[in-house]
Amino acid sequence: MNILHISAECFPIAKVGGLADVVGALPKYQKDLGTSANVIMPFYNNKFTQSNTFEEIHSDYIALGHQYYNFKVLKLTSNQLGFDLFCIDIPDLIYKEYVYSSDDTERFLAFQIAALDWILTLKKQPNIIHTHDHHTGLIPFMISQSFKYKTLKNIPTVLTIHNAQYQGWFSHENVNLIPPFNRDNIGLLDWGGNINSLAIAIKCAWKVTTVSPSYMEELKIKANGLEDLLNHESSKCIGILNGIDWSVWNPKTDDKLIKNYDKSTVISGKSSNKKWLCKEYNLDVKKPLFVFIGRLVGEKGADLFPEIFKEALAENNISILLLGSGYEKIEEALTSISQENFNKFIGYDEKLAHIMYAGADFLLMPSRVEPCGLNQMYSLRYGTVPIVNAIGGLKDTIIDITKENGFGVVHHGVTIEKVTSAITKASIYFNQKEFRKNLKKMMQIDHSWGNSAQAYVNLYKSLKN
Ligand code: ADP
Repeated sequence: MNILHISAECFPIAKVGGLADVVGALPKYQKDLGTSANVIMPFYNNKFTQSNTFEEIHSDYIALGHQYYNFKVLKLTSNQLGFDLFCIDIPDLIYKEYVYSSDDTERFLAFQIAALDWILTLKKQPNIIHTHDHHTGLIPFMISQSFKYKTLKNIPTVLTIHNAQYQGWFSHENVNLIPPFNRDNIGLLDWGGNINSLAIAIKCAWKVTTVSPSYMEELKIKANGLEDLLNHESSKCIGILNGIDWSVWNPKTDDKLIKNYDKSTVISGKSSNKKWLCKEYNLDVKKPLFVFIGRLVGEKGADLFPEIFKEALAENNISILLLGSGYEKIEEALTSISQENFNKFIGYDEKLAHIMYAGADFLLMPSRVEPCGLNQMYSLRYGTVPIVNAIGGLKDTIIDITKENGFGVVHHGVTIEKVTSAITKASIYFNQKEFRKNLKKMMQIDHSWGNSAQAYVNLYKSLKN
Protein backbone atom coordinates (compact mmCIF):
# COMPACT_ATOMS: atom_id res chain seq x y z
CA MET A 1 0.00 0.00 0.00
CA ASN A 2 1.34 3.37 -1.09
CA ILE A 3 0.21 6.30 1.11
CA LEU A 4 0.85 9.95 0.35
CA HIS A 5 0.44 12.50 3.17
CA ILE A 6 -0.24 16.05 1.98
CA SER A 7 0.40 18.69 4.61
CA ALA A 8 1.39 22.32 5.25
CA GLU A 9 3.75 21.29 8.06
CA CYS A 10 6.13 18.42 8.73
CA PHE A 11 8.75 18.13 11.46
CA PRO A 12 11.69 18.88 11.20
CA ILE A 13 11.21 20.80 7.95
CA ALA A 14 8.60 23.34 9.08
CA LYS A 15 6.77 23.27 12.39
CA VAL A 16 4.21 25.63 13.88
CA GLY A 17 2.46 23.13 16.14
CA GLY A 18 1.43 19.52 16.67
CA LEU A 19 0.45 18.98 13.03
CA ALA A 20 4.16 18.98 12.12
CA ASP A 21 5.01 16.43 14.80
CA VAL A 22 2.31 14.05 13.57
CA VAL A 23 3.14 14.32 9.86
CA GLY A 24 6.85 13.95 10.64
CA ALA A 25 6.31 10.77 12.65
CA LEU A 26 3.28 8.87 11.35
CA PRO A 27 4.80 7.89 7.95
CA LYS A 28 7.85 6.35 9.67
CA TYR A 29 5.66 4.15 11.82
CA GLN A 30 3.39 3.28 8.89
CA LYS A 31 6.50 2.10 7.06
CA ASP A 32 7.30 -0.21 9.97
CA LEU A 33 3.92 -1.83 9.30
CA GLY A 34 4.95 -2.71 5.76
CA THR A 35 3.26 0.15 3.90
CA SER A 36 5.01 2.83 1.85
CA ALA A 37 4.19 6.25 3.30
CA ASN A 38 5.64 9.54 2.06
CA VAL A 39 4.98 13.26 2.45
CA ILE A 40 4.46 16.20 0.11
CA MET A 41 4.52 19.74 1.51
CA PRO A 42 5.25 23.32 0.43
CA PHE A 43 8.88 24.39 -0.03
CA TYR A 44 9.39 27.25 2.44
CA ASN A 45 12.46 29.42 2.85
CA ASN A 46 13.84 28.21 6.17
CA LYS A 47 16.85 26.71 7.87
CA PHE A 48 16.00 23.15 6.87
CA THR A 49 15.46 23.87 3.18
CA GLN A 50 18.58 26.06 3.05
CA SER A 51 20.83 23.51 4.70
CA ASN A 52 19.68 20.34 2.90
CA THR A 53 20.00 19.19 -0.67
CA PHE A 54 16.97 18.71 -2.88
CA GLU A 55 16.79 17.22 -6.35
CA GLU A 56 14.35 18.54 -8.95
CA ILE A 57 12.17 15.67 -10.17
CA HIS A 58 9.42 17.51 -12.02
CA SER A 59 8.57 20.99 -13.30
CA ASP A 60 5.47 22.50 -14.86
CA TYR A 61 3.15 25.44 -14.41
CA ILE A 62 -0.29 25.85 -12.87
CA ALA A 63 -3.13 28.22 -13.52
CA LEU A 64 -4.59 29.95 -10.50
CA GLY A 65 -7.55 31.76 -12.00
CA HIS A 66 -5.97 33.96 -14.69
CA GLN A 67 -2.50 33.86 -13.16
CA TYR A 68 0.15 31.34 -14.19
CA TYR A 69 2.88 30.12 -11.86
CA ASN A 70 5.85 27.89 -12.57
CA PHE A 71 6.42 25.17 -10.04
CA LYS A 72 8.96 22.45 -9.33
CA VAL A 73 8.70 19.26 -7.33
CA LEU A 74 11.81 18.83 -5.23
CA LYS A 75 12.81 15.62 -3.48
CA LEU A 76 15.02 15.58 -0.40
CA THR A 77 18.15 13.68 -1.46
CA SER A 78 19.09 12.24 1.94
CA ASN A 79 17.02 9.54 3.63
CA GLN A 80 17.39 11.09 7.11
CA LEU A 81 13.61 11.32 7.71
CA GLY A 82 12.70 7.65 7.32
CA PHE A 83 10.33 8.46 4.44
CA ASP A 84 10.53 10.29 1.09
CA LEU A 85 9.91 14.02 1.29
CA PHE A 86 8.61 15.87 -1.75
CA CYS A 87 8.20 19.65 -1.77
CA ILE A 88 6.30 21.95 -4.08
CA ASP A 89 8.41 24.97 -4.91
CA ILE A 90 6.51 28.01 -6.20
CA PRO A 91 9.02 30.82 -5.69
CA ASP A 92 6.55 33.72 -6.00
CA LEU A 93 3.99 32.28 -3.60
CA ILE A 94 5.35 29.64 -1.27
CA TYR A 95 9.08 30.20 -0.82
CA LYS A 96 8.68 32.52 2.19
CA GLU A 97 10.20 32.64 5.65
CA TYR A 98 6.80 31.94 7.22
CA VAL A 99 4.40 28.99 7.02
CA TYR A 100 1.12 30.90 7.44
CA SER A 101 0.17 34.46 6.59
CA SER A 102 -2.67 36.57 5.19
CA ASP A 103 -2.31 35.30 1.59
CA ASP A 104 -2.87 31.66 2.56
CA THR A 105 -5.85 31.17 0.20
CA GLU A 106 -3.75 31.60 -2.93
CA ARG A 107 -0.65 29.96 -1.48
CA PHE A 108 -2.30 26.76 -0.33
CA LEU A 109 -4.60 26.50 -3.35
CA ALA A 110 -1.55 26.75 -5.60
CA PHE A 111 0.21 24.13 -3.48
CA GLN A 112 -2.74 21.72 -3.69
CA ILE A 113 -3.20 22.16 -7.45
CA ALA A 114 0.52 21.66 -8.12
CA ALA A 115 0.56 18.56 -5.89
CA LEU A 116 -2.37 17.00 -7.76
CA ASP A 117 -0.90 17.96 -11.16
CA TRP A 118 2.27 16.14 -10.19
CA ILE A 119 0.36 13.10 -8.91
CA LEU A 120 -1.36 12.94 -12.33
CA THR A 121 2.05 12.39 -13.93
CA LEU A 122 3.15 9.57 -11.62
CA LYS A 123 3.46 6.07 -13.04
CA LYS A 124 2.82 4.60 -9.62
CA GLN A 125 0.00 6.59 -8.11
CA PRO A 126 -0.76 6.53 -4.38
CA ASN A 127 -3.36 4.03 -3.11
CA ILE A 128 -4.39 6.50 -0.39
CA ILE A 129 -4.19 10.28 -0.25
CA HIS A 130 -4.14 11.45 3.36
CA THR A 131 -4.78 15.20 3.79
CA HIS A 132 -4.28 17.15 7.00
CA ASP A 133 -6.32 20.15 8.20
CA HIS A 134 -7.90 22.86 6.09
CA HIS A 135 -4.73 23.80 4.17
CA THR A 136 -5.17 20.65 2.10
CA GLY A 137 -8.98 20.49 2.35
CA LEU A 138 -9.64 21.21 -1.33
CA ILE A 139 -7.80 18.04 -2.39
CA PRO A 140 -10.72 15.62 -1.74
CA PHE A 141 -13.04 18.02 -3.59
CA MET A 142 -10.78 18.53 -6.60
CA ILE A 143 -10.14 14.79 -6.92
CA SER A 144 -13.83 14.03 -6.94
CA GLN A 145 -15.12 17.08 -8.89
CA SER A 146 -12.46 18.77 -11.06
CA PHE A 147 -12.50 17.44 -14.65
CA LYS A 148 -8.73 17.63 -14.81
CA TYR A 149 -8.29 15.05 -12.04
CA LYS A 150 -10.93 12.54 -13.08
CA THR A 151 -8.32 9.75 -13.44
CA LEU A 152 -7.58 10.13 -9.70
CA LYS A 153 -11.24 9.79 -8.72
CA ASN A 154 -10.92 6.27 -7.35
CA ILE A 155 -8.06 7.03 -4.98
CA PRO A 156 -9.55 7.05 -1.46
CA THR A 157 -8.98 10.27 0.47
CA VAL A 158 -8.66 10.61 4.24
CA LEU A 159 -8.85 13.90 6.11
CA THR A 160 -7.35 14.23 9.57
CA ILE A 161 -8.60 17.20 11.59
CA HIS A 162 -5.83 18.37 13.90
CA ASN A 163 -7.64 21.58 14.76
CA ALA A 164 -11.18 22.49 13.69
CA GLN A 165 -10.99 26.12 14.86
CA TYR A 166 -9.21 27.17 11.70
CA GLN A 167 -11.18 26.28 8.58
CA GLY A 168 -9.62 28.10 5.61
CA TRP A 169 -12.61 30.24 4.68
CA PHE A 170 -12.63 32.30 1.50
CA SER A 171 -15.15 34.20 -0.53
CA HIS A 172 -17.20 32.71 -3.38
CA GLU A 173 -15.67 35.49 -5.50
CA ASN A 174 -12.52 33.36 -5.57
CA VAL A 175 -14.25 30.23 -6.87
CA ASN A 176 -12.45 30.59 -10.20
CA LEU A 177 -9.15 29.82 -8.51
CA ILE A 178 -10.33 26.20 -8.31
CA PRO A 179 -9.73 24.17 -11.50
CA PRO A 180 -12.98 23.78 -13.52
CA PHE A 181 -15.42 21.34 -11.92
CA ASN A 182 -18.94 20.07 -12.22
CA ARG A 183 -20.99 23.17 -11.29
CA ASP A 184 -23.99 20.99 -10.37
CA ASN A 185 -22.03 20.19 -7.22
CA ILE A 186 -20.98 23.73 -6.36
CA GLY A 187 -22.94 23.37 -3.10
CA LEU A 188 -20.14 21.15 -1.79
CA LEU A 189 -17.95 24.24 -1.50
CA ASP A 190 -20.28 26.25 0.67
CA TRP A 191 -20.67 26.26 4.41
CA GLY A 192 -22.35 29.24 6.07
CA GLY A 193 -22.12 31.50 3.01
CA ASN A 194 -18.38 31.09 2.39
CA ILE A 195 -16.14 28.60 0.71
CA ASN A 196 -14.95 26.61 3.72
CA SER A 197 -11.94 24.36 3.05
CA LEU A 198 -12.35 22.22 6.14
CA ALA A 199 -16.09 21.72 5.61
CA ILE A 200 -15.43 20.77 1.98
CA ALA A 201 -12.95 18.11 3.06
CA ILE A 202 -15.39 16.75 5.65
CA LYS A 203 -18.01 16.43 2.91
CA CYS A 204 -15.74 14.98 0.21
CA ALA A 205 -13.11 12.83 1.96
CA TRP A 206 -13.88 9.11 2.14
CA LYS A 207 -13.03 9.07 5.86
CA VAL A 208 -12.55 11.80 8.44
CA THR A 209 -10.44 11.33 11.54
CA THR A 210 -9.71 13.52 14.53
CA VAL A 211 -6.59 13.17 16.63
CA SER A 212 -8.39 11.80 19.69
CA PRO A 213 -11.73 10.05 20.28
CA SER A 214 -12.93 12.66 22.82
CA TYR A 215 -12.21 15.51 20.41
CA MET A 216 -14.43 13.87 17.80
CA GLU A 217 -17.31 13.71 20.28
CA GLU A 218 -16.70 17.31 21.44
CA LEU A 219 -16.72 18.59 17.84
CA LYS A 220 -20.20 17.23 17.33
CA ILE A 221 -21.28 19.69 20.05
CA LYS A 222 -18.89 22.60 19.43
CA ALA A 223 -16.87 22.93 16.23
CA ASN A 224 -16.81 26.61 15.29
CA GLY A 225 -19.90 26.16 13.10
CA LEU A 226 -19.25 22.63 11.79
CA GLU A 227 -21.28 20.73 14.44
CA ASP A 228 -24.24 19.87 12.18
CA LEU A 229 -21.96 18.79 9.37
CA LEU A 230 -19.97 16.46 11.62
CA ASN A 231 -23.15 14.96 13.04
CA HIS A 232 -24.46 14.47 9.51
CA GLU A 233 -21.22 12.79 8.38
CA SER A 234 -20.67 10.88 11.62
CA SER A 235 -20.77 7.45 9.95
CA LYS A 236 -17.43 8.17 8.24
CA CYS A 237 -15.83 9.89 11.24
CA ILE A 238 -13.52 8.26 13.78
CA GLY A 239 -11.09 9.48 16.46
CA ILE A 240 -7.58 8.00 16.52
CA LEU A 241 -5.29 9.17 19.31
CA ASN A 242 -1.91 10.51 18.18
CA GLY A 243 1.27 8.91 19.34
CA ILE A 244 4.60 10.56 20.00
CA ASP A 245 7.80 9.96 18.13
CA TRP A 246 9.57 7.59 20.49
CA SER A 247 12.90 8.05 18.71
CA VAL A 248 12.89 11.87 18.97
CA TRP A 249 11.27 12.12 22.41
CA ASN A 250 13.42 9.81 24.47
CA PRO A 251 15.19 11.22 27.56
CA LYS A 252 17.84 8.50 27.26
CA THR A 253 19.04 9.62 23.82
CA ASP A 254 17.68 13.17 23.39
CA ASP A 255 20.74 15.19 22.29
CA LYS A 256 19.10 18.48 23.31
CA LEU A 257 19.19 17.62 27.02
CA ILE A 258 21.80 18.78 29.50
CA LYS A 259 21.87 15.24 30.90
CA ASN A 260 20.24 12.11 29.54
CA TYR A 261 18.41 9.67 31.81
CA ASP A 262 16.11 6.69 31.91
CA LYS A 263 13.82 5.23 34.59
CA SER A 264 16.71 4.11 36.74
CA THR A 265 18.48 7.50 36.64
CA VAL A 266 15.45 9.75 36.46
CA ILE A 267 16.01 11.58 39.76
CA SER A 268 19.58 12.68 39.03
CA GLY A 269 18.87 13.21 35.31
CA LYS A 270 15.91 15.49 35.91
CA SER A 271 17.80 17.31 38.61
CA SER A 272 20.69 18.23 36.24
CA ASN A 273 18.28 19.59 33.65
CA LYS A 274 16.40 21.50 36.34
CA LYS A 275 19.61 23.01 37.71
CA TRP A 276 20.52 24.29 34.24
CA LEU A 277 17.05 25.79 33.73
CA CYS A 278 17.00 27.46 37.14
CA LYS A 279 20.46 28.93 36.67
CA GLU A 280 19.67 30.16 33.17
CA TYR A 281 16.33 31.66 34.20
CA ASN A 282 17.21 32.80 37.69
CA LEU A 283 14.83 30.51 39.58
CA ASP A 284 15.24 28.74 42.93
CA VAL A 285 16.15 25.13 42.21
CA LYS A 286 14.70 23.98 45.56
CA LYS A 287 11.16 24.97 44.66
CA PRO A 288 8.91 22.75 42.55
CA LEU A 289 9.15 23.96 38.97
CA PHE A 290 5.95 24.39 36.94
CA VAL A 291 6.28 25.03 33.21
CA PHE A 292 4.11 25.88 30.23
CA ILE A 293 5.23 25.30 26.63
CA GLY A 294 3.02 26.34 23.75
CA ARG A 295 1.09 28.92 21.82
CA LEU A 296 -0.14 31.89 23.86
CA VAL A 297 -3.75 31.78 22.66
CA GLY A 298 -7.18 31.46 24.26
CA GLU A 299 -7.47 27.79 23.25
CA LYS A 300 -4.56 27.03 25.57
CA GLY A 301 -6.06 29.10 28.41
CA ALA A 302 -3.16 31.55 28.00
CA ASP A 303 -5.29 34.69 28.45
CA LEU A 304 -5.65 33.69 32.12
CA PHE A 305 -1.93 33.02 32.69
CA PRO A 306 -0.98 36.44 34.07
CA GLU A 307 -3.66 36.19 36.81
CA ILE A 308 -3.14 32.47 37.42
CA PHE A 309 0.62 32.86 37.76
CA LYS A 310 0.35 35.84 40.13
CA GLU A 311 -2.07 33.98 42.39
CA ALA A 312 -0.30 30.63 42.26
CA LEU A 313 3.04 32.25 43.09
CA ALA A 314 1.51 34.19 45.98
CA GLU A 315 -0.21 31.11 47.45
CA ASN A 316 2.48 28.44 46.90
CA ASN A 317 6.20 28.07 47.33
CA ILE A 318 6.88 27.32 43.66
CA SER A 319 8.59 28.62 40.50
CA ILE A 320 7.07 29.02 37.07
CA LEU A 321 8.82 29.12 33.70
CA LEU A 322 6.97 29.75 30.44
CA LEU A 323 8.04 29.20 26.83
CA GLY A 324 5.77 30.40 24.07
CA SER A 325 4.54 33.10 21.81
CA GLY A 326 1.17 34.26 20.53
CA TYR A 327 -1.17 37.15 21.19
CA GLU A 328 0.74 40.35 21.81
CA LYS A 329 -1.55 41.35 24.67
CA ILE A 330 -0.82 38.10 26.52
CA GLU A 331 2.90 38.44 25.87
CA GLU A 332 2.82 42.00 27.25
CA ALA A 333 0.83 40.99 30.34
CA LEU A 334 3.34 38.21 31.04
CA THR A 335 6.22 40.61 30.60
CA SER A 336 4.71 42.90 33.23
CA ILE A 337 4.72 40.17 35.94
CA SER A 338 7.32 41.36 38.40
CA GLN A 339 7.08 38.59 41.01
CA GLU A 340 10.16 36.58 41.87
CA ASN A 341 10.18 32.91 40.93
CA PHE A 342 8.67 33.60 37.52
CA ASN A 343 10.46 33.79 34.22
CA LYS A 344 9.66 33.39 30.58
CA PHE A 345 11.08 33.04 27.10
CA ILE A 346 8.79 34.64 24.55
CA GLY A 347 9.56 32.95 21.25
CA TYR A 348 10.08 29.50 19.78
CA ASP A 349 12.96 27.32 20.97
CA GLU A 350 12.92 23.59 20.30
CA LYS A 351 16.00 22.87 22.45
CA LEU A 352 14.67 24.80 25.41
CA ALA A 353 11.35 22.97 25.12
CA HIS A 354 13.13 19.60 25.41
CA ILE A 355 15.12 20.73 28.46
CA MET A 356 11.91 22.03 30.05
CA TYR A 357 10.08 18.71 29.59
CA ALA A 358 13.08 17.08 31.27
CA GLY A 359 13.85 19.58 34.01
CA ALA A 360 10.36 20.55 35.15
CA ASP A 361 8.41 18.90 37.95
CA PHE A 362 5.00 19.84 36.52
CA LEU A 363 3.65 20.79 33.11
CA LEU A 364 0.61 23.08 32.89
CA MET A 365 -2.00 22.50 30.17
CA PRO A 366 -5.18 24.37 31.10
CA SER A 367 -6.46 24.13 27.51
CA ARG A 368 -10.03 25.04 26.66
CA VAL A 369 -9.67 23.09 23.42
CA GLU A 370 -7.10 20.33 22.93
CA PRO A 371 -7.63 18.08 19.88
CA CYS A 372 -4.99 15.64 21.13
CA GLY A 373 -2.14 17.52 22.75
CA LEU A 374 1.36 16.18 22.49
CA ASN A 375 2.97 18.06 25.36
CA GLN A 376 1.28 15.94 28.03
CA MET A 377 2.60 12.78 26.37
CA TYR A 378 6.12 14.22 26.11
CA SER A 379 5.93 15.20 29.77
CA LEU A 380 4.95 11.64 30.80
CA ARG A 381 7.88 10.24 28.83
CA TYR A 382 10.23 12.71 30.59
CA GLY A 383 8.79 12.06 34.07
CA THR A 384 7.03 15.42 34.48
CA VAL A 385 3.56 15.49 36.05
CA PRO A 386 0.95 16.94 33.67
CA ILE A 387 -1.72 19.24 35.13
CA VAL A 388 -4.52 19.32 32.59
CA ASN A 389 -8.07 20.39 31.94
CA ALA A 390 -10.29 17.37 31.17
CA ILE A 391 -10.83 18.09 27.49
CA GLY A 392 -10.14 16.35 24.15
CA GLY A 393 -6.97 14.29 24.06
CA LEU A 394 -6.06 15.41 27.59
CA LYS A 395 -9.15 13.60 28.85
CA ASP A 396 -8.12 10.49 26.87
CA THR A 397 -4.54 10.36 28.18
CA ILE A 398 -4.34 11.72 31.76
CA ILE A 399 -5.85 10.12 34.87
CA ASP A 400 -6.03 12.13 38.08
CA ILE A 401 -3.67 10.91 40.81
CA THR A 402 -6.57 10.38 43.23
CA LYS A 403 -8.21 7.86 40.84
CA GLU A 404 -7.32 4.23 40.29
CA ASN A 405 -4.07 4.00 38.25
CA GLY A 406 -3.84 7.81 38.34
CA PHE A 407 -0.61 9.75 37.82
CA GLY A 408 -1.49 13.35 36.81
CA VAL A 409 -3.60 16.23 38.04
CA VAL A 410 -6.91 16.79 36.27
CA HIS A 411 -9.15 19.82 36.73
CA HIS A 412 -12.57 20.28 35.22
CA GLY A 413 -12.95 23.69 33.60
CA VAL A 414 -10.61 26.61 33.02
CA THR A 415 -10.92 29.45 35.50
CA ILE A 416 -8.27 31.27 37.51
CA GLU A 417 -9.52 29.54 40.64
CA LYS A 418 -9.62 26.01 39.20
CA VAL A 419 -6.16 26.15 37.67
CA THR A 420 -4.64 27.78 40.75
CA SER A 421 -6.10 25.14 43.03
CA ALA A 422 -4.82 22.37 40.70
CA ILE A 423 -1.35 23.90 41.08
CA THR A 424 -1.75 23.94 44.87
CA LYS A 425 -2.94 20.32 44.84
CA ALA A 426 0.06 19.31 42.72
CA SER A 427 2.57 21.06 44.96
CA ILE A 428 1.16 19.16 47.96
CA TYR A 429 1.84 15.85 46.19
CA PHE A 430 5.35 17.04 45.50
CA ASN A 431 6.13 16.72 49.19
CA GLN A 432 5.15 13.09 49.35
CA LYS A 433 7.35 10.06 48.89
CA GLU A 434 4.83 8.81 46.38
CA PHE A 435 5.96 11.49 43.98
CA ARG A 436 9.16 9.65 43.11
CA LYS A 437 7.31 6.40 42.51
CA ASN A 438 4.94 8.30 40.27
CA LEU A 439 7.83 9.49 38.03
CA LYS A 440 8.66 5.94 37.07
CA LYS A 441 5.02 5.04 36.63
CA MET A 442 4.54 7.92 34.18
CA MET A 443 7.65 7.02 32.21
CA GLN A 444 6.30 3.51 31.65
CA ILE A 445 3.12 4.67 29.94
CA ASP A 446 3.37 3.81 26.26
CA HIS A 447 2.10 6.49 23.89
CA SER A 448 4.39 5.53 21.02
CA TRP A 449 2.98 5.58 17.50
CA GLY A 450 2.67 1.79 17.09
CA ASN A 451 -1.02 1.46 17.97
CA SER A 452 -2.11 4.66 16.22
CA ALA A 453 -0.19 3.87 13.03
CA GLN A 454 -1.90 0.45 12.97
CA ALA A 455 -5.33 2.06 13.44
CA TYR A 456 -4.70 4.30 10.40
CA VAL A 457 -3.54 1.36 8.30
CA ASN A 458 -6.69 -0.58 9.28
CA LEU A 459 -8.74 2.43 8.23
CA TYR A 460 -6.99 2.62 4.83
CA LYS A 461 -7.55 -1.10 4.30
CA SER A 462 -11.28 -0.61 4.83
CA LEU A 463 -11.22 1.85 1.90
CA LYS A 464 -9.70 -0.36 -0.76
CA ASN A 465 -11.05 0.78 -4.11
P1 ADP B 1 -0.75 22.76 19.06
O1 ADP B 1 -0.56 21.97 17.81
O2 ADP B 1 -2.18 23.08 19.36
O3 ADP B 1 0.12 23.98 19.12
P2 ADP B 1 0.30 20.41 20.43
O4 ADP B 1 0.36 20.05 21.88
O5 ADP B 1 -0.42 19.45 19.55
O6 ADP B 1 -0.30 21.87 20.31
O7 ADP B 1 1.79 20.56 19.88
C1 ADP B 1 2.61 21.58 20.25
C2 ADP B 1 4.04 21.25 19.83
O8 ADP B 1 4.75 22.45 19.60
C3 ADP B 1 4.82 20.51 20.90
O9 ADP B 1 5.80 19.73 20.27
C4 ADP B 1 5.47 21.66 21.69
O10 ADP B 1 6.62 21.24 22.38
C5 ADP B 1 5.82 22.60 20.56
N1 ADP B 1 5.89 24.02 20.90
C6 ADP B 1 4.86 24.89 21.03
N2 ADP B 1 5.31 26.12 21.30
C7 ADP B 1 6.65 26.05 21.36
C8 ADP B 1 7.69 27.01 21.60
N3 ADP B 1 7.43 28.28 21.85
N4 ADP B 1 8.98 26.57 21.57
C9 ADP B 1 9.25 25.27 21.32
N5 ADP B 1 8.32 24.31 21.08
C10 ADP B 1 7.03 24.70 21.09
